[in-house]
Amino acid sequence: MDTHADRPDRIRKVAADWRIPPNLRDYAVACSAFSWEAVSDRLASGRDVNIARLAIDRHVEGGAGARIAFRFLSATGECRDLSYADLARLTDRFAHVLASLGIAKGERLFVLCGRIPELYIAVLGGLKYGAVVSPLFSAFGPEPIATRIAIGAGRVLVTTDALYRRKVESVRAQLPTLEHVLLVGTDDESTTPPGTDDFSTLLAAAPEAPFVGSTAVDDMALLHFTSGTTGKPKGAVHVHGAVATHYATGQYALDLHPEDIFWCTADPGWVTGTSYGIIAPLLHGVTSVVDAAEFDAERWYAILEAQRVSVWYTAPTAIRMLMKAGPELARQHRYPALRFIASVGEPLNPEAVWWGQDVLGLPIHDNWWQTETGGIMIANFAGLDIKPGSMGLPLPGVEAAIVQRGEGDESLRVLDAAAAQGELALKAGWPSMFRGYLGEDERYHRCFRDGYYLTGDLARRDADGYYWFIGRADDVIKSAGHLIGPFEVESALMEHPAVAEAGVIGKPDPVVGETVKAFVSLRKGFEPSAALKLALLGHARKRLGAAVAPKEIAFLPALPRTRSGKIMRRLLKARELGLPEGDLSTLESGA
Ligand code: AMP
Repeated sequence: MDTHADRPDRIRKVAADWRIPPNLRDYAVACSAFSWEAVSDRLASGRDVNIARLAIDRHVEGGAGARIAFRFLSATGECRDLSYADLARLTDRFAHVLASLGIAKGERLFVLCGRIPELYIAVLGGLKYGAVVSPLFSAFGPEPIATRIAIGAGRVLVTTDALYRRKVESVRAQLPTLEHVLLVGTDDESTTPPGTDDFSTLLAAAPEAPFVGSTAVDDMALLHFTSGTTGKPKGAVHVHGAVATHYATGQYALDLHPEDIFWCTADPGWVTGTSYGIIAPLLHGVTSVVDAAEFDAERWYAILEAQRVSVWYTAPTAIRMLMKAGPELARQHRYPALRFIASVGEPLNPEAVWWGQDVLGLPIHDNWWQTETGGIMIANFAGLDIKPGSMGLPLPGVEAAIVQRGEGDESLRVLDAAAAQGELALKAGWPSMFRGYLGEDERYHRCFRDGYYLTGDLARRDADGYYWFIGRADDVIKSAGHLIGPFEVESALMEHPAVAEAGVIGKPDPVVGETVKAFVSLRKGFEPSAALKLALLGHARKRLGAAVAPKEIAFLPALPRTRSGKIMRRLLKARELGLPEGDLSTLESGA
């Protein structure tokens, strides 16, 4: 196969390529005609702004209740469909359950499950009720789970019997606010562990009647955790009004049409899996495929074919793993229904965009956003040319900018030239903009200057207005599309009696983007050894879970620190990669 260097720098879109006319064809016209008020009005048309009601009940009221909302594929091959009407009924019931437990509007409901129907019922039922919903990734270990529930002052947790016993029971005593734990998959009520209730028993006992409640645009709806370079994970607060972004991006960036079969491969424990694995496809009344199993190249190709997936939203790590599995596997299946592929979460190499074109017959459309933005902000659109390697153009209604922070705390320079390089910023005010980091006002306000939200990503804009990702401005690690805060990993390592200090970096990896590597120095009385290394890896995996734990550990006599005592992760990384060490003026002597 050619390398991308031999390819044109643009994939041109022509009308003959489109199976259905894309929702966005003329970018300038779409931008000038766009208003968020019009989107919100069209969507809500006089109803309460509630994500679940607009996503589910609106279709049932409009006569589309029989349409399939979700097709759940279990790891063992069973298939279960839930129609929009089923989902309306089950989410009403779950809202009644929350009422019967005495949960107040705005209190936090955490959901820790694999991709099973109950996760979707709990998330949407919680939103319908007016609780604040926080889905957690089921591959987290006890530590990240406990930290997040504690920050969110979680009052209810929906999880499975197995996950509870493995990951929550040991930390339950640290979570005094957590009054109710509802377990899925207990054999019967009599076997639930102490302090828990059986999810299905409560659901069955709830009234079979619509739940009456109301929420407003600015009511808090979702709490999504993300990681910074320092400190604890940040709980990004999102409101019900974010639904306008979910709807507009589903229309423009994912090009959803009512007859689509949509597959978002992201887990709802991460923001993509909630905004686009649950909310946006429901808003558009399409059918979503949900696969409970983990990545498997052969299984994924079989799902694309057998489920007749027409729009597929996935991630660069998954695409690179498919590329690694070889084109022959892909060619054992046929994808006549597939008409649009998009990807998010990490840089998408031009090779991957072209691989889609060569092997699946469709290029891959990269798009960019973050937990804080709540929805897609920059995208390659179905109807517009792709520049492989670029994240695309800002969504209509989103004003992106390239900026430079000044020396002082307040100043900001917006780079006006058509082509520019610096930090990516967004003009504040789009509907799904996060409204706070829970309990951390100062940290939240530091993200804004002169009316712009500063993303912490470095990017370049070319003369055509396309944005290109350069890198993160901080030390946060992106592994398999998941943000990992080095501090959280360092803290878990430091809990081990042998560890004096720990510094954690992202080490470039051709498949998953970055892997987590930890450097540790040992306390007096401990010596580096292969056995200790294994013990530390095991300790971290047990505390943090496989998704977050380091894959590699190296011993150092001491870690490089600044004079003010901060571990210089940047220097650890430069040394690891054999890169120039940069400015060492703040390095403590001897490190
Ligand atoms: P998260 O908040 O976990 O969704 O992670 C957001 C971060 O992922 C962004 O700030 C970027 O650093 C990275 N990211 C997301 N989408 C892209 C993309 N298309 N290209 C490059 N990096 C991306």
